[in-house]
Amino acid sequence: MRKILLGLVVFPLMSIAQEKPTEKNPDKFKQMYDLLATPNMYRTASGAPGPEYYQQQADYKIDIELDDRNTKLYGQETVTYTNNAKESLDYLWMQLDQNQQSRKSLSPMVESNVTDPVMSPKGFSRKYLEEDFDGGFNIEYVKDASGKAMNYTINQTMMRIELATPLKHGEKISFSIKWWYNINNYRLDGGRSGYEQFEDGNRLYVLAQFYPRMAVYNDVEGWQNQQFWGAGEFALPFGNFDVNITVPADHILEATGELLNRSEVFTPAQLARYAQAEKSFDKPVIVVTQAEAEAAEKGFSTQKKTWKFKATNVRDFGISTSRKFIYDAMAVKLASRNTMAISLYPKEGNPLWEEYSTRIVAHTLKSYSSHTFDYPYPKAISINAEDQGMEYPMICWNWGRPDADGKYSDRVKHGMMSVIVHEVGHNFFPMIVNSDERQWTWMDEGLNSFLEYVALMEWDPNFPADRGPAKNIVPYMSGDEKGLEPIMSNSESIRQFGNNAYGKPAAALNILRETVMGRELFDYAFKTYANRWKFKHPTPEDFFRTMEDASAFDLDWFWRGWFYTTDFNDIGIKEVKKYFVSNEPSKEVKDFLKTRRRRNRIEGPMVYMIADGSESYKPEMNKPFEIKDCKTLQEYVEKTFTKEEQAKLKTPKYFYQVTFDKPGELVMPIIVELTFEDGTTEMHHFPAQIWRMNDKEANRTFATDKAIVKIKVDPKEETADINTTNNSWPKEEVKSKFD
Ligand SMILES: [Zn+2]
Repeated sequence: MRKILLGLVVFPLMSIAQEKPTEKNPDKFKQMYDLLATPNMYRTASGAPGPEYYQQQADYKIDIELDDRNTKLYGQETVTYTNNAKESLDYLWMQLDQNQQSRKSLSPMVESNVTDPVMSPKGFSRKYLEEDFDGGFNIEYVKDASGKAMNYTINQTMMRIELATPLKHGEKISFSIKWWYNINNYRLDGGRSGYEQFEDGNRLYVLAQFYPRMAVYNDVEGWQNQQFWGAGEFALPFGNFDVNITVPADHILEATGELLNRSEVFTPAQLARYAQAEKSFDKPVIVVTQAEAEAAEKGFSTQKKTWKFKATNVRDFGISTSRKFIYDAMAVKLASRNTMAISLYPKEGNPLWEEYSTRIVAHTLKSYSSHTFDYPYPKAISINAEDQGMEYPMICWNWGRPDADGKYSDRVKHGMMSVIVHEVGHNFFPMIVNSDERQWTWMDEGLNSFLEYVALMEWDPNFPADRGPAKNIVPYMSGDEKGLEPIMSNSESIRQFGNNAYGKPAAALNILRETVMGRELFDYAFKTYANRWKFKHPTPEDFFRTMEDASAFDLDWFWRGWFYTTDFNDIGIKEVKKYFVSNEPSKEVKDFLKTRRRRNRIEGPMVYMIADGSESYKPEMNKPFEIKDCKTLQEYVEKTFTKEEQAKLKTPKYFYQVTFDKPGELVMPIIVELTFEDGTTEMHHFPAQIWRMNDKEANRTFATDKAIVKIKVDPKEETADINTTNNSWPKEEVKSKFD
């Protein structure tokens, strides 16, 4: 091999020892075979459902009746369960989530509690004097299709139904259950459903988890067997529902599914207004007016009405009913189909709700559809239920009301709009992309909080969104690591629920989209995930793998760091050295060459780079570099290139070696902004892989035409860098918060 005689040689005099990956210092770019489930015929290595993928089907026929006077709900259901697994099932498991409200519930028993030093009389009374609310299912019977009683066992919030003969692959079984329960006042007793008591004597019901629901059986868990403790939400199979709901005749009601008998429950005027709403794509139409609602809430009908709904391919069913409801609706045009946006609210929600709810529902459906798939259901309903933010297929409960005088702050308005986007957005994750909420809160809350942020930015780029922007997760990620757990933690084991399962994954995905992958590749991959898994049951692996599979981005380093650890990002500028080109070697270079054996010596004319501040640096060097300043370089250029080629050569005049250090454990891209003496700036983006050989330090030399006056790492705060005091050169004065 020919000796290198000429060339710009920068000798790394103090090269940093490369860190060999060890168990203590693992390779952060290693594939995650140690963490992910092995791909199989159900779930492939690409992240797509495999050829053996199956899921169970649970169809329901339900009749329920609300006793509004006594706040009780009575129900009877017939479940038809289809076993699509290759294996036979000896028993079935159902979820009795209402039992979390039972006096026998173990949920309060797994919480530590202390003696409050100060309590209101009401608080003291509820804690020490009064009996707990008497909630939970009262099961009257479980019968097979022939009417014969079936054996069942209840373990807290789950019920095992024994089968006389195993249910084989492809077989169906039908059975019936009758039950009732006391409905909880959720503002007193908590819960994701129940009723709100108004001073005028009326109630506003939001009913969910109101029927025994089939648990998920699949290739990952077998029967889902984690109890409902209260934090980890639900895991439910898809099915079709026929539901008849009997309520006082003066109630207005909405629920999951298509209303089959609108003409029996609406007045002719309301029917006409609803027909108008179905054609109104630009603004909501009031279907049940405030005057009608105010008239209804003064009475208490002893007559009954039955509302009949049919829902296809949903994982759950929710209902909201009250005689206080105002109802408005508008049509929504999506790329491939139309749907309806609907809101129900008491007069206490106005004027806020009439103005914003249905409009933001419509916007959410359009925004989410454009990032996933067209919303496949006939409607999306937003219910105003104070203190609630909870989602079911096609229907959700949302808080946010003006003061009694109708005035509201921007905070209330923005909070109400955010919660509506969020809960309507849950139609996509997890109602359609049906992940296991009992195990992984982040799979629905994190993905949904991310798209909520995207939708809010599409509504108004200045919307004060709290979850999504990278810098908003810094206070959490820089907190005491003893109080943190990785995103990949079970839903019941998360201390800071909102930060861990909503904020951090939303910020992570936003960073992935804006900073790591770019919108085009990210959006395609995210859409691929949504479409692969819509109406199916994905796992974390399916998400991680699809995002890589569809983008050609190896992201194991990102998933490992952001989802499997509590590491934080901190990248700083340790040192900036200016270099000057010289015909003469510096003293350091001479010393270095002496230590080399003769045959390794570099001979012939060389170009030398002298560092500012080194012994050989002379003040006269401090001027913009020209090729003619360096004899050997000029000779080389003239000998090698034609005049024409020479004119095209770059003309760097300044050389800066920047040493980046990384006190943080996360590996992240280095984003650098150079500011020149004339005030112009230039961005440089180094992928995270720059850290693959050395996890602590990275060096880059910038050869520029203009002198640099400022270098800043992550100038737009897009990487959740927890310490920005080390991000600038020269060091910026940090203003004390007392200034
Ligand atoms: Zn949520």
